[in-house]
Amino acid sequence: MSIPYRGRFAPSPTGPLHFGSLVAALGSCLDARTQGGEWLVRMEDVDTPRNVPGAADDILRTLEAFGFEWDGAVAYQSRRHAVYGEALASLREAGKVYGCACSRREIADSALLPAIDGGMLYSGTCRAGLAAGRLARAWRLRVDASELVFDDRLQGRIAQVLERDVGDFVLLRADGLFAYQLAVVVDDAWQGITDVVRGADLLASTPRQIWLQRCLGYSTPSYAHLPVAANPAGEKLSKQTKAVPLKVADAPGELLAALRFLGQPAPTELAAAAVRDVWAWALENWSFAAVPRQRSIVIP
Ligand code: GLU
Repeated sequence: MSIPYRGRFAPSPTGPLHFGSLVAALGSCLDARTQGGEWLVRMEDVDTPRNVPGAADDILRTLEAFGFEWDGAVAYQSRRHAVYGEALASLREAGKVYGCACSRREIADSALLPAIDGGMLYSGTCRAGLAAGRLARAWRLRVDASELVFDDRLQGRIAQVLERDVGDFVLLRADGLFAYQLAVVVDDAWQGITDVVRGADLLASTPRQIWLQRCLGYSTPSYAHLPVAANPAGEKLSKQTKAVPLKVADAPGELLAALRFLGQPAPTELAAAAVRDVWAWALENWSFAAVPRQRSIVIP
């Protein structure tokens, strides 16, 4: 018997949903529903200073207006600090994490190369223990020099050598907040997620998440990284690039555009149809095989 499919959409409430988020929500939801799966929504509000008041409710109302229906209650990472603390404690007992006293400045000064995600590759100063008089600011997970490989359903074979490409990475930050990498891994396991379908901007984070799953004894879900929508300057649509919020009044038109972006030949007439008619077409005709195997697609 195969494990039932369980997918999820995990927005960060840092602003209203935009076209890029609609693509991720729609791709993950259709992949789940057309396989008879469940689809959950999780608010990734662990980075509390970045949360915008009211954004989480606004996201949920927008999803409803766009015809999305999720299973169960929405999970909020901001309420799960104790659980992330337990996961970190178990890693500490197993000697897999260590306290790091380095300041941002010291890391930048000692880093020889940039990390794969544009951050700084940690040189490992505190790996063998803190020098006398130094206090731990953050907690890092040890990585090794082996090649970590996984097969993405859309992007193919992805390989990283964490020690070379990322370095020991932070799970508990100097400001006392748990890192996204820890929260996402703990929650995907807690919610029993079998299939992660999300934007390709998270492709470079995936080997870190798989490594963490292995360190915590969790199983690894299957991954599909959808192309991200980029502006003509090649930047991913986001709050920083001033992506326009989704227009709820034009939900059918926006859904149609998202389906087309995902390679589905949705008929133009759907733009004038009701939201439920667009969903009926999408559920009937969804073809995962038609989704472009690209990391980004420029939209005008
Ligand atoms: N919260 C992340 C974001 O908004 C998504 C994380 C995920 O899907 O794993 O970019």
